Amino acid sequence: MPVDAVAEARGGFAALDSCVHCGFCLQACPTFLATGDEADSPRGRIELMRALERGELTADDPYVVEHLDRCLGCRGCEPVCPSGVGYGHGLEAARELIAAARPLPWLARAALAALTTPGLSGLVYALARALRVTGIPGWLAGWGRVGFAMGMLASTAPTGGKRRNGAVRGGRSHAAPTASDRPLPPLTALLFRGCIMDGLFSHVHDATVRALTVNGYEVTDVPGQVCCGALHVHAGLRDAARALARRNLSAFGEGDEPIVVNSAGCGALLKQYGDLLDLTPAASAGARFAARVRDVTELLAARGPVPGAPLDTRVAYDPPCHLLHAQRIAEPPLQMFRAIPVLQLVATPDAAQCCGSAGLFTLVQPGMSRAVLAPKVASLREAAPQVVATGNPGCLMQLGAGLRAARIPARTRHPVELLDDSYRAAGYYA
Ligand code: SF4
Ligand code: SF4
Repeated sequence: MPVDAVAEARGGFAALDSCVHCGFCLQACPTFLATGDEADSPRGRIELMRALERGELTADDPYVVEHLDRCLGCRGCEPVCPSGVGYGHGLEAARELIAAARPLPWLARAALAALTTPGLSGLVYALARALRVTGIPGWLAGWGRVGFAMGMLASTAPTGGKRRNGAVRGGRSHAAPTASDRPLPPLTALLFRGCIMDGLFSHVHDATVRALTVNGYEVTDVPGQVCCGALHVHAGLRDAARALARRNLSAFGEGDEPIVVNSAGCGALLKQYGDLLDLTPAASAGARFAARVRDVTELLAARGPVPGAPLDTRVAYDPPCHLLHAQRIAEPPLQMFRAIPVLQLVATPDAAQCCGSAGLFTLVQPGMSRAVLAPKVASLREAAPQVVATGNPGCLMQLGAGLRAARIPARTRHPVELLDDSYRAAGYYA
């Protein structure tokens, strides 16, 4: 069999071949730092995955399942690896085998259904918003299982800017400054809404549309789009993710307009649709779709972005793993912050490490998730920002819940919301 065909047949496992066991990745791995156990490190898990591929261990082996389940999938081990190991691809292949060998835990199944099933998820999000508006989740926030979930919900509430103009309505942006008001050639961008972002963070979509409009984009809504499938891929359900991907390909069509995403987790998977649909009839359409996907900060950075009015705010930027490690996007968010005069970025030593959210991880591995979050909360207490900015719904909720539980008086916000506040203060939305 030709070498390429062999690699294809091995799926993501081939990406692990270059590991030379040097151990440079160990100190970048939050779960290894939490337990000190080699089997909770990238190097140890790579050995488990290799044994799984060779058939020396089975996919229902409790030791394999325990240590691969405890991986966040944060890919913090990839940028520090001198051999270029594609850890994330190996993990996805291993999780697909595990998912085929044992039923998904009931909690993961229930959460996936509640958060991503069209119809059902609409009802779940409506109930969550109704509870959120009472303010009760904020009072109940704490470190216990229920308290943490309440803190997560409380952290989805809109804060900051008072007026809510500029939402996408009827398929078009109605933010005050239109693309033609700017001395920039107008460009069309298609908004990817996602499931959790749309259900609980529609105010971030509104801010995204307004900020892009100021920068010369005409943002258009796309009917028929569905969940990206990232939560399914994390759970090993790649066939379910492929079905969602095919629906998104059909909804967004074959044009060449950029597809703008403000959730790092969704963006990372949407940019992998080519790989996800590899060996299927939709492979080349998936690759073309993936090439159009842009994080909102990438589109804004491509236009400057236009500077706003000063915001006298201390901000700790916590880059989501799926933006920094999976998409390798570091500079565009910083460029965006520089467009906000006076805003002060405060550094924290572990900003580049995972917060412990990781899709459904915070629900199904609460002990490890809180252990990973704890040092970050301690760093934030010391840095004392007013706002912790991060561009992913899971991170916004996880960090927000941690801040509330630790009684730290800072709120989480999406970076684009800060630019939106700055533009509002500058009078762009008059
Ligand atoms: S994954 Fe990379 S950094 Fe980690 S042990 Fe293997 S070669 Fe070394
Ligand atoms: S993906 Fe994250 S948690 Fe998993 S091995 Fe790599 S650094 Fe550790």
